[in-house]
Amino acid sequence: MPLKRAQEHHHISRDLELNPVFSREPVKVPRYALPKSEMEPETAYQLVHDELMLDGNARLNLATFVSTWTEPQALRLMGECAEKNMIDKDEYPQTAELETRCVHMLARLWNAPDAHRAVGCSTTGSSEAAMLGGLALKRRWQHRLAADGTTAKPNLVMGINVQICWEKFADYFDVEARYVPMEGERYHLSPEAAVELCDENTIGVVAVLGSTFDGSYEPVAELAAALDDLQERTGLDIPIHVDGASGAMIAPFLDPDLVWDFRLPRVASINTSGHKFGLVMPGVGWALWRDEQALPDDLVFHVNYLGGDMPTFALNFSRPGAQVVAQYYNFLRLGFDGYRRVQQTCRDVATRLAGEIAGLGPFELITDGSQTPVFAFRIRQGIDAFSVFDVSAALRERGWLVPAYTFPENRTDLAVLRIVVRNGFSHDLADLLLADLKRVLERLEHQSGPQRSADDAGGFAHGAETKNPKRPGRH
Ligand SMILES: *Cc1c(COP(=O)(O)O)cnc(C)c1O
Repeated sequence: MPLKRAQEHHHISRDLELNPVFSREPVKVPRYALPKSEMEPETAYQLVHDELMLDGNARLNLATFVSTWTEPQALRLMGECAEKNMIDKDEYPQTAELETRCVHMLARLWNAPDAHRAVGCSTTGSSEAAMLGGLALKRRWQHRLAADGTTAKPNLVMGINVQICWEKFADYFDVEARYVPMEGERYHLSPEAAVELCDENTIGVVAVLGSTFDGSYEPVAELAAALDDLQERTGLDIPIHVDGASGAMIAPFLDPDLVWDFRLPRVASINTSGHKFGLVMPGVGWALWRDEQALPDDLVFHVNYLGGDMPTFALNFSRPGAQVVAQYYNFLRLGFDGYRRVQQTCRDVATRLAGEIAGLGPFELITDGSQTPVFAFRIRQGIDAFSVFDVSAALRERGWLVPAYTFPENRTDLAVLRIVVRNGFSHDLADLLLADLKRVLERLEHQSGPQRSADDAGGFAHGAETKNPKRPGRH
């Protein structure tokens, strides 16, 4: 949500007015100032409820990776835990215990060689988890640096396709972001190009499992091998952090033979979004380190826990406990087989829908949903009656949110649409979308040329926005 200055809203200066449904009118309250006195809860509820009708229908939002459906039992547990603050480990020891169980389950799921030695925590989402992963890498480098006595600036190597949280990490924590550009039809990093950017001040390389731009997996094992080779040649020992915001909850279930996780000794840490394919409602992520060596002890703070000492590593202090409880519920409820079925269904819907869209004629797939259940597609060359931005806007008329955006550096010529298939987006909904897309195309094909451009696209690419070259932290 962009920060809004109050003046931006001055054109709507009229107060909020209650409709005559309660026979309590006239009720008038200021829009941008705290009302002077109280009102009935039912009245306040109705005012807020009515305003929120203008929000989109979350289930039709194919832009977001974040859960928009969950079981009523999970919602009930969340309601029961609404007052629980995750940081009060002493007051809510059982919530703390469920968090620990989730960490252990993830450590095993991600094949930590010694699962009980893995360390980890819940976070607000993958963004906070990425900050923590990045900070651990930076602190490890600082410790090495203290030993060597250099004063250089640290850098982090990653594909230009990384989600915006990594650009933030670099900016906020004073680390040089070194982006591997896209090249031709390579839309994420290549091991060779990544290694070429590494030097003695590289704190780590980020590999993304489930690129925000097209849903593809980055080649983690190949990257690890290239970094092994670099170490052999130069002595540089550079760890990998895997940003598995979406893919770390897909690959273990659907691609068990893909080696991307703690099976690779070079993978120091992994994050995922519990609220993406972890299937929890917004508000939970996870960060795990392969062992205590990977997480420097001087980053860990200590809170009181049952009269004892509980280590914590987090940017926030207070945080809701409900999402962590819901994560545990999902793990318990679905188990491995249940998650596998849910994720396989998402992949089936994604690959089928991608195939059907490719078959319509004007579109060409960039990815086909066979890695994360996410795919991107472009308009075929030679079709110039409409743009992807026209398609996005036209679908929005029916309530579908399908983002359109341009790719970053070296491929800024490429504009795509992207669809994220999540739990609850059924084959049936996919058919409805397809029917609407066909209807929309009949109209767009008669246009004399594209009506909308990237400037009209709105801000819902979910982190696939082009990196801001004017940002001071960017090099
Ligand atoms: C969504 C996403 C993030 C950010 O995660 P949040 O949980 O929304 O904070 C980071 N990296 C990738 C690859 C993502 O898909």
